[in-house]
Amino acid sequence: MKVTRVEIFDIHCPKRPVWNPVFVRIHTDEGISGVGEAGLAYDLGHSAAAHMIKEFAEEMLIGFNPFQTELLWSRMLRESFWGLGGGPVIYSAMSAIDTALWDIKGKALGLPVYELLGGRVNGDLRTYASQLQFDWDAEVNRLNHPAEFARAAEKAMAEGYDAVKVDPIMYDKHGVTHFDRTKLFGREEMRLFRDRMAAIRDVVGEDVDIIFECHSLPGASTAIQLGEIVEEFRCMYFEEPVNYLNSALHKRVADKVNVPIAGGERLYNRWGVRPYLEDQSLDVLQPDVGLCGGLTETKKVCDYADIYDVRIQAHVCGGPVATMAALHLETAIPNFLIHEHHTYAIKDWNRELCLQDPQPVNGQFRCPDEPGLGIELNDEVVKRSPHMEIK
Ligand code: MG
Repeated sequence: MKVTRVEIFDIHCPKRPVWNPVFVRIHTDEGISGVGEAGLAYDLGHSAAAHMIKEFAEEMLIGFNPFQTELLWSRMLRESFWGLGGGPVIYSAMSAIDTALWDIKGKALGLPVYELLGGRVNGDLRTYASQLQFDWDAEVNRLNHPAEFARAAEKAMAEGYDAVKVDPIMYDKHGVTHFDRTKLFGREEMRLFRDRMAAIRDVVGEDVDIIFECHSLPGASTAIQLGEIVEEFRCMYFEEPVNYLNSALHKRVADKVNVPIAGGERLYNRWGVRPYLEDQSLDVLQPDVGLCGGLTETKKVCDYADIYDVRIQAHVCGGPVATMAALHLETAIPNFLIHEHHTYAIKDWNRELCLQDPQPVNGQFRCPDEPGLGIELNDEVVKRSPHMEIK
């Protein structure tokens, strides 16, 4: 079997201009195709990822046997020059291609991808409603008042979720998101963040898990300050309390805050996660299949984390292909903890991108049993966006 043609879609959503999933579809001479997704659907970088996939396709994909995922991964790592340095552009492109190759393998063998990764370990995957500060509804709303956070949590609970995630420091009291979180917070700001968490805890009760998200923006001292709120509301974990530019920061927060620490969506490959595992500053690792290096590499990263008793929640904030890739991985790993379902994943403008619409039932996901990943692009929609074809 040989790769004959590669399509790349840089999605532009008229209803959501800041949402840009990047898909790749790899075709073979046997009529089987596979899809993958780069993990740069939000903020900056998507068009760079699309063009990085194009360069990989031209340089080392056409004419290649799609079953040789290890060999191709090593070539992308070592022969691209930049792969040996890391970074989201090159790794999201490698990840998208690798995921699509696994989809091809599964379809060719008539097996779901999780079977090829080691078989089913986890049946029903416990799932949480993610990023409540954007509301849990048909539209994205920027929440500010504590009562709005409580209502969003109620909506998620009504759908059967028993775990939610919120970034209570995303907006200040004016609803502004661009403010400095590295200086120490004043008592008024701390009270606002605490009131938002209290409103959620009040409405969900004691038995629902709450994840406290920070998006890497606090400084180490402000993260430790926030730790008093995270501890007070007995959060399930404290996510991305600090950035990854200095790995010692995570260790400092982990030593000071008595709640499990999560992170990893901005780390790539085994070498990237190494310092956080070795100094045991992360309790929950959150690799993104679309950034960490595809299924080939993310599976290895999860096994590596298991040596340190680190649990896995794949980071998912992308199109339906990203959701499906994460489900196959999480089905096949013993150290799976919980699955992330982002509020963007319940929006029409995201759900229409594929023919299948992966959604949890009562806060639980079950990975489909169709050959491959079990997901196909909706050509009617994706072909309206900029796309490229390499032969
Ligand atoms: Mg996050």
